[in-house]
Amino acid sequence: MRRIEQIEPFRVMQLLERARQLEREGRTIVHMEIGEPDFPAPPEVIEEAQRQLQSNGQWYTPSTGAPELQRAIADFYQRAYGVPIDAERILVTPGTSGAFNLLYAALLDPGERVLLPDPGYPCQRNLVRLAGGIPVSIPVDAASGYHLSATHLAEHWDARTRAAVVISPGNPTGTLIDTDELAHIAAECRRRGGMLISDEIYHGLTYGCQAQTALALDDEAIVVNGLSKRWAMTGWRIGWLIVPETMIDACRRVMQNIFIAAPTLSQQVACRALRCDDATEMMRATYDQRRRYLLRELPALGFRIVVEPRGAFYIYTDVSQITDDSARFCQQLLEEAGVAITPGEDFGRHRSEQHVRFSYATGMEELELGINRLRDFLDQR
Ligand code: PLP
Repeated sequence: MRRIEQIEPFRVMQLLERARQLEREGRTIVHMEIGEPDFPAPPEVIEEAQRQLQSNGQWYTPSTGAPELQRAIADFYQRAYGVPIDAERILVTPGTSGAFNLLYAALLDPGERVLLPDPGYPCQRNLVRLAGGIPVSIPVDAASGYHLSATHLAEHWDARTRAAVVISPGNPTGTLIDTDELAHIAAECRRRGGMLISDEIYHGLTYGCQAQTALALDDEAIVVNGLSKRWAMTGWRIGWLIVPETMIDACRRVMQNIFIAAPTLSQQVACRALRCDDATEMMRATYDQRRRYLLRELPALGFRIVVEPRGAFYIYTDVSQITDDSARFCQQLLEEAGVAITPGEDFGRHRSEQHVRFSYATGMEELELGINRLRDFLDQR
């Protein structure tokens, strides 16, 4: 099979397109499928963008990023986690997606394997394939909080395995990995001469707990993060990759070739965004209120929540008491009740037909309308 044939589309996009079509036909749709913050970027960020534009200084930055932004990110790690990081180990990329693209291109030789959780963020599989690698999807369940564990690594690691990916808080599950387990995974990766890759894009969006960066546990861990979620700045396309010193040169060379550099205006603005603590706290508190509402309402309707989601803006529920075909259920729910949610199949194969993901990156009124429509829909079945 040609490589491109193995690249899967985002199925939720088809659902979203259908939802938009129904809206054009006059229906109101409750959007609980979208994984994008519904908040605008913090106002200070917009002011900073206007100020920077006046300077008309948007030339290419160095490939690894504007040095002041690399320093601002290093300061952020010191402030948020108490972890000192040499700014040179930070590469600024076009979104977290760009960071993964770059990382897999720099890390993998053809045929090398990357261990990933199933269910998990689907782009990972595709980006590993695009780099010529082999994504190994490992079924994960409630028992490990829907995360890879050191035991999974021991079971699936072989001579061609290069890395394991942890995404915590997780997409689609919103669950957090236990810090001790993350330390065990880091140790297991090291013992086997591989890398731990930690996707920390939902850090800062945690409720009643805090996520620890993998860098606090292992200085050689590879960390990926960006402005899309905690800072609600998806369209600015700023991410970063923190790598061990030995990988900087390889990453720089790939970066020079595939992106040249991340967008300059966005980098200038990012320095300001990293200090917007009040705005991010306001968003976090609002998400938490919505989360608590759904945690009350969904189980009463038959959506089983096995592990409490304490991060991101997702709830992954077991719908086996309602349907054995979650994709069809989601389609019917959209067509008949005007509620859009994401079927498990978007996130992998493991018991995907028994799960759906709710996103609460949408206002409280919409969520209430969605719950009422869900209740009516289920009553009429
Ligand atoms: N990683 C995870 C787990 C995500 O859910 C997303 C987006 O939804 C990304 C990475 C990519 O984010 P971006 O490229 O906007 O930084």
